[in-house]
Amino acid sequence: MAESYPIHGRIDGPVVIVGFGSIGRGTLPLIERHFDYDRDDIHVIEPSGEHADLLARRGVRHIPVALTPDNFRDVLDPLFACGKGFCVNLSVDVGSLDMMIYCREKGVLYVDTVVEPWKGFYFDLGVGPEARTNYALREAVKAEARANPGGTTAVSCCGANPGMVSWLLKEALLKLAADIGRAAVAPADRDGWARLMQRLRVRGVHIAERDTQVARTPRPRGTFVNTWSVEGFIAESFQPAELGWGSHERSFPAGGRRHAAGCRAGIFLDTPGIVTQVRTWTPAAGPQIGYLVTHNEAISIADYYTVGSGDAPEFRPTCHYAYHPCDDAMLSLHETLGTGVEQEKAVVLDEHDIASGEDCLGVLLYGHARNALWYGSRLTIERARELAPSQNATGLQVTSAVLAGMVWALENPEAGIVETDEMDHVRCLEIMRPYLGAVEGTYTSWNPLKTRWPQLGGPEDPADPWQFVNVLAR
Ligand code: NAD
Repeated sequence: MAESYPIHGRIDGPVVIVGFGSIGRGTLPLIERHFDYDRDDIHVIEPSGEHADLLARRGVRHIPVALTPDNFRDVLDPLFACGKGFCVNLSVDVGSLDMMIYCREKGVLYVDTVVEPWKGFYFDLGVGPEARTNYALREAVKAEARANPGGTTAVSCCGANPGMVSWLLKEALLKLAADIGRAAVAPADRDGWARLMQRLRVRGVHIAERDTQVARTPRPRGTFVNTWSVEGFIAESFQPAELGWGSHERSFPAGGRRHAAGCRAGIFLDTPGIVTQVRTWTPAAGPQIGYLVTHNEAISIADYYTVGSGDAPEFRPTCHYAYHPCDDAMLSLHETLGTGVEQEKAVVLDEHDIASGEDCLGVLLYGHARNALWYGSRLTIERARELAPSQNATGLQVTSAVLAGMVWALENPEAGIVETDEMDHVRCLEIMRPYLGAVEGTYTSWNPLKTRWPQLGGPEDPADPWQFVNVLAR
């Protein structure tokens, strides 16, 4: 007997998915499972045509076009002429801000998983590093939200990270509060959440991820292998490393730079993520080195949990990504750096290519009375295969967040442009939880001074393990 799944809402008007890579292919079955919509009015805009057969079999109309700043209105206008529907942007190289402005003008709900710029942005060295940061991309979205508040909902950056980790962070804060004997009542607003984090003496948050998924066949040289977009990962790896800059930090990193305008919650380094390594901890690996790859949530979380404002607030957590991708991606990055060019082939491992492993993705809250708490999703490839088709464990953590973002938008259709920090984490995690494998919290006594090799020289700040200078490995 076929399994039955809860229908979370009705989408009136067309469903338009932009991009049909690893995340698009995984999201489609979740949309089919969990929404009521007109089955003749679902479309995928995607230029490569690589999966045209699959779309035809599923009764989805394929529009084989690459969206550009010049053509996107012409392509979308006939689809959204009715002034309703849902646009799910899961592409690379399609400008998120223009897409959300367009959709809101039309009355069309919108969700994406990153603030994606139009093609060319990431590698435009002519504009200087500050302009190529996620801080700059986010500020542009925030400026639009301020200029045009309210109106049709557009959910920004609603994947696993950015996305789900912001919801897990709230659950983790409530767990920490309960575990150290504080009243664990969920705050009602942003200020309340920021003050809760401050009261709990959390000094920083790593988005700490270990992907242990292993391919059935060894990675051939000359091929970039990853568990999600190769293009997306290479692009973000070459952006400047960025982090939310906490109020407890007492020495500014060499090569660090502040921004002249905007929320001031983040700084950037003069090195890209591909050569910027940090010490962190995950339950899958214990202590580990991760890449400090720039991500929107590093800035949005630091901004959301700020008490005060500007460069010297009363409280702000340090926040950054600390990513150990799957071993094949580690080797691929190494080869990319060494050869000075991108590999000729790109492979995203699908659920059949992977023999074993998990994606262990969560938030590591550090510096408080219990030292450090990792809280997140541990999803194995075996469990991912049981739960949903057409995706690996990494993909399902992302697509279930897209699903949650869509449900939230349908239930809150006039919320304007929102980030996941601003959404109801309880409702969103309720939608996601069936797809996340084990969601668990683990305390650790680890700190970054404990796993330094003496050969690398003494710690920068031996008096305080949780200073960023101690976290930064090189
Ligand atoms: P992918 O590289 O597998 O697929 C990208 C898709 O975009 C392809 O179908 C490609 O043909 C399409 N595309 C490229 N240019 C286009 C254009 N001009 N117009 C329309 N479509 C175009 O990527 P993926 O792994 O599916 O990831 C999709 C997006 O999701 C990326 O932006 C990625 O960074 C993001 N992502 C976010 C998270 C998160 O947790 N927030 C996680 C994984 C991926």
